[in-house]
Amino acid sequence: MEHKICIKSMHPAALAAAMEQLGQPPYRAQQIFRWLSLGVSSFEEMTNISKDLRRELDQRFFITKPGIAACQKSKHDGTVKYLFSLEDGNCIETVLMKYEHGYSICLSTQAGCKMGCVFCASYEKGATRNLTPAEIYDQVLWAQKDQNVRVSNIVLMGTGEPLDNYENVVTFLRIVSHPQGLNIGMRHISLSTCGLVPKIEELGRLKLQLTLSVSLHAPTNAIRDRLMPVNRSYPLEKLIPACRRYFEQTGRRISFEYAMIRHVNDTPQCAAALAQLLSGMHSHVNLIPLNHVEGSPLEPSTREDLRAFQNALIKKGITTTVRRSLGGDIDASCGQLRKKAAARKENAE
Ligand code: SAH
Repeated sequence: MEHKICIKSMHPAALAAAMEQLGQPPYRAQQIFRWLSLGVSSFEEMTNISKDLRRELDQRFFITKPGIAACQKSKHDGTVKYLFSLEDGNCIETVLMKYEHGYSICLSTQAGCKMGCVFCASYEKGATRNLTPAEIYDQVLWAQKDQNVRVSNIVLMGTGEPLDNYENVVTFLRIVSHPQGLNIGMRHISLSTCGLVPKIEELGRLKLQLTLSVSLHAPTNAIRDRLMPVNRSYPLEKLIPACRRYFEQTGRRISFEYAMIRHVNDTPQCAAALAQLLSGMHSHVNLIPLNHVEGSPLEPSTREDLRAFQNALIKKGITTTVRRSLGGDIDASCGQLRKKAAARKENAE
């Protein structure tokens, strides 16, 4: 398959150029793009295209088709978690969540992650690769097909660092938001980053209307250095100004993720330092009770400490919410299912 091109990774403009080279009219690219948005897995299914052209397309291009390696459905809230297997045997996780206003999906952008945040289950030494635009897109298409629903919101918060796979992620965003495809508007998409400053700046210049979530998790470099190795390259004095610029460039307020870790970042002093750090900024703080990861010494904050922290921020005028936790009975937080599958595989070998 090496010599063939991944057609689902192509933006409509690239597809149009490729069809023109084959001597096809412009509407052909639109027809193919629509079929791909419906989740077809072969050119044979594109019934409004001639057999000859289907055969030619099949010789030049391929259509990705992930397998469902595992699927768990929560009995409490309808959350569905998928472990998809990719062409090369890698597995990735996707979580489909049901809200009052529709379905939201949490996508992986890399197989594994090299950022090394100490509280996160996704980190595995060496074992990472970027997902192609098609592999990111497939998570939406196949979850939709499997559950027979339409996704209205996307969060890039699964395994991987989206800005470490910048080009593919931006191509995916352009594909998934295209009016002739799934047409999921940028305002319905959030991208979460651990804080790769140069890439935040590059993204800001595109002026996309998506929500940028920044995984902050600490109000000082001393604490953040311990939790997130990326802070040594891009400390708070670089990250926070980049976030301010992002707002100026896009007009979109930043959402800061803050996982509450008992006795590490949840003290009244931390709340005061955080309020100071974000003062005067157009931002929103999302407090997340830490998901305990097997084997980790880090514990979630108590409910009381979490409330006190939230109140302290609100008092200082900082919009702060606590994230609702879904899928607690199905390992729905990132990396957990994938880790278990990897462990099972190791045990079997
Ligand atoms: N690499 C990106 C996106 C993937 S992680 C990022 O760092 O933002 C998605 C979110 O889950 C991030 O905010 C991350 O810090 C958080 N997270 C990871 N492990 C967690 C855990 N054990 N408990 C709570 N939040 C966690």
